[in-house]
Amino acid sequence: MRPPICRICDKNLVDKDDGGLIYFRKRPSDKEWEKRMEGIGGVGHPPYAEWFCKKHYDRAKELKHLPINEALKILRSEGT
Ligand SMILES: [Zn+2]
Repeated sequence: MRPPICRICDKNLVDKDDGGLIYFRKRPSDKEWEKRMEGIGGVGHPPYAEWFCKKHYDRAKELKHLPINEALKILRSEGT
């Protein structure tokens, strides 16, 4: 797992209450990643998951039906 830092504003999520991890819709490449990890018995930060601070968490959650790259594009275009 990556250190919990908001993907949008780089806020450090020191406390669990400061935000959370959101899993987005898996792209074909994400499914391949999972298969690869299963194969080697590895664990890592899923490419389709990202941390968000409290301020961005709710909006990110609304977009979790989208692949992560599209969701981030929307979140960034909306600003803070
Ligand atoms: Zn944030």
